[in-house]
Amino acid sequence: MTKRVYLQGLPVDIISYNDALESVKYAVDNGESMQIVTINPEMIECAKNNKDFANVIKHSELVVADGVGVKIALKLKGFSQERIGGVDFSRSLIEMCAKDNLRLALLGAKEEVISTLVDKLKAEFENLNIVYAHNGYFDNENLILNEIKNARPQIFLCALGSPKQEFFISRLKEMLQGCTMIGIGGSFDVFSGHVQRAPLIWQKLGLEWLYRVIKQPERFRRIFPALPIFLFESIIDSVKK
Ligand code: UDP
Repeated sequence: MTKRVYLQGLPVDIISYNDALESVKYAVDNGESMQIVTINPEMIECAKNNKDFANVIKHSELVVADGVGVKIALKLKGFSQERIGGVDFSRSLIEMCAKDNLRLALLGAKEEVISTLVDKLKAEFENLNIVYAHNGYFDNENLILNEIKNARPQIFLCALGSPKQEFFISRLKEMLQGCTMIGIGGSFDVFSGHVQRAPLIWQKLGLEWLYRVIKQPERFRRIFPALPIFLFESIIDSVKK
C-alpha cells in the first residue's frame, strides 16, 4: 500500500521496493502510463525555486525516496522508508523487461556510454527487446519524443540528469499510452562500467553520496548547500509539528 507524504511541499510515496515494482507491473498489464521520480534533496531544493518542476513532481504517479537525506527527513516525520535508488530500480525494470518480454527504450548519457550499455545488456539478456536507444545529447527534442512514441516502449529509462529528464518524461507522457517512465540520472554511466558505484559498505552506511563527491569533486557544488539546507529545514519542520 502506498501512502503519499509531503516533504517541504513535495510528495514522496511510502512504499516498499517490491510494491513499487508491483505497481509498475500493474500499470504495464493495464496499459496505463506512469511517471516515476526518484527524489533526492537536490531535487527538492531545486523544485522550491522552479514551480514547473514542482508541478511535474506533484503530477507523477510514483515518487520514491532516493538518497539518505530523504530517508532521514521521512524518519523525522515518523516514516520508515527503504531507499529506492535509480540504479537498483532501473536494473530491476530491465530484468522485468527480459522476463516478461516488454519493450524497453533507453535515452541518455554520452554516445560511447549508451552503445556500450546496449551491447552489455544484449549479451546479458538474450531476450531483451530494446526498441529504442539514443544518447542524451540532442538538439531536436521533438524528433526524439516522436521517435520514442513510434517505438511504443512499455518501459522507458531516461538518464538525462535532473530536472531535464523529469520534464522530458512529462512531455512524453502526454504522447504515449501504456508506458512506465523513470528518470535515473547517471545510472547508464554505472551500468556501462564508465563510472564505478560505491562499495557495498558505503551504500549500506548511506554514504554513497560522499563516495561520489570524492570520486567526482565537481559534484560538491550540487550537494552543498542543498543537502544541509534540506536537512536543516526538515528538522525545523519536524519540531514545528
Ligand atoms: N546527460 C545527458 N544529456 C544532457 C546532460 C546530461 O544525457 O544533456 C547525462 C550525463 O551524461 C549523465 C547523466 O545525464 O550520464 C547525469 O548524470 P548525473 O551523475 O549528473 O546524475 P545523478 O545520478 O546525480 O542524478
